[in-house]
Amino acid sequence: MKPAAFDYYTPKTMQEALELLEEFGYDAKILAGGQSLIPTMNMRLARPQALIDIGKLDELAYIRIHDTDVQIGATTRHYTVEHSPHILEVCPMLSEGIKLVGHSQIRSRGTIGGSLVHADSTAELPVILRTLGGTVTLASLEGERTVEAEEFFLTYLTTTIEPNEILVSANFPRIAARTGHAIEEFALRKGDFAIVLAAASVTIAQDGSIESVRLGLGGVDGAPIRLEDVEEELEGQEPDSDLIAECCESIRDAIDPEPDIHASTEYRKDLSVTLSRRVLEKAIQRAKAQFSYV
Ligand SMILES: Cc1cc2nc3c(=O)[nH]c(=O)nc-3n(C[C@H](O)[C@H](O)[C@H](O)COP(=O)(O)OP(=O)(O)OC[C@H]3O[C@@H](n4cnc5c(N)ncnc54)[C@H](O)[C@@H]3O)c2cc1C
Repeated sequence: MKPAAFDYYTPKTMQEALELLEEFGYDAKILAGGQSLIPTMNMRLARPQALIDIGKLDELAYIRIHDTDVQIGATTRHYTVEHSPHILEVCPMLSEGIKLVGHSQIRSRGTIGGSLVHADSTAELPVILRTLGGTVTLASLEGERTVEAEEFFLTYLTTTIEPNEILVSANFPRIAARTGHAIEEFALRKGDFAIVLAAASVTIAQDGSIESVRLGLGGVDGAPIRLEDVEEELEGQEPDSDLIAECCESIRDAIDPEPDIHASTEYRKDLSVTLSRRVLEKAIQRAKAQFSYV
C-alpha cells in the first residue's frame, strides 16, 4: 500500500518547524519515527498535504535528570530510553515498560513524543505518564505550555494538542525512596499492542504500612485511567495479599471496557483485576527489597 501524495519538509530548527505548522495547520502532520503515522498514511487513514519531519531535530533528543523528575525530549528514541542506566535508576517503570513497546526495530525508530501524541489506548508510555502523574510540554509560535497527563489524554488517539503545536518534552516524576514500580501487560503475541496493561507505584512507610499507591490501567477506556478508589483503599493499610486481591476485585465494577475483535468486556475486566493485583504485589516487593537500605 502506498500513501497519497504529500510534500515533505525537513526543518533544521524548532522555529522553522513551528512556522511550517502554522502555515499548513490541519493539512500538516509532524513526522517523528513514523512507526504509527506511516502505516496510517499507507492505509489512507491519514492524508496530510505536508509532512514536517522533526525526526532529525537534535535539539529535541535528550534525557535530563532533574532533582524531582526526568525530562525526555520528544525525538528521543524508545531504544535510547530503554538502554539508559540513568532512567533505570530514576524511573524504573519507564525502563521496564518501554521494553514492551513493539519490537526492537520499532523501538529503534519510534520516539517518546510520537507515542504520547499518537495516544493509543493500550500504548505503554501514556499509561506510565498517567500513572506516575507526569506532564508534557507543548510549543507553538506563541510560546510553551505544560499540561498534566490527566488533562492531555482525552480518548482514543486524541489528546489536547493543537494543530499548531509540537510536543517538545515529557516529564516523569523520579521514583521516591522506599518505592517500588511495576508494569505488566497481556498481549496475544510478543511485540503486539497489549490488550490490557497495568502499572503501579507503591511507597512503603517506615512502619511497614502502605504510604502511597498509584495504580493505572490501559486498554479499558479511550485513555489511560487511574484507580483512585483502590489507591485510597490500600493507603495506610498493611501490605496484605488478601486485602490487595479484594481491592483489585472491586475494579471489575469500576470499569466498563468496550468489547472489540481482540477481547470481550468481561475478558478485559478479568485481565484488569489480575494484572492490577500482580503489579501491586510486585511493586510492594520491590519497595520492601530496598527498605532496609533507607
Ligand atoms: C508492528 C507495530 C507494533 C507496535 N507495537 C506497539 C506497542 O506495543 N506499544 C506502543 O506504544 N506502540 C507500538 N507501536 C507504535 C510505535 O511505538 C510508534 O513508534 C509510536 O506509537 C509513535 O512514535 P513515532 O515516533 O514513530 O511517531 P510517528 O509515527 O512519527 O507519529 C505518530 C503521531 O504523533 C504525531 N507526532 C509525533 N511526534 C510529535 C511531536 N513531537 N509533536 C506533535 N505531534 C507529534 C504525528 O503527527 C502522528 O500523528 C507499534 C507499531 C508497529 C508498527
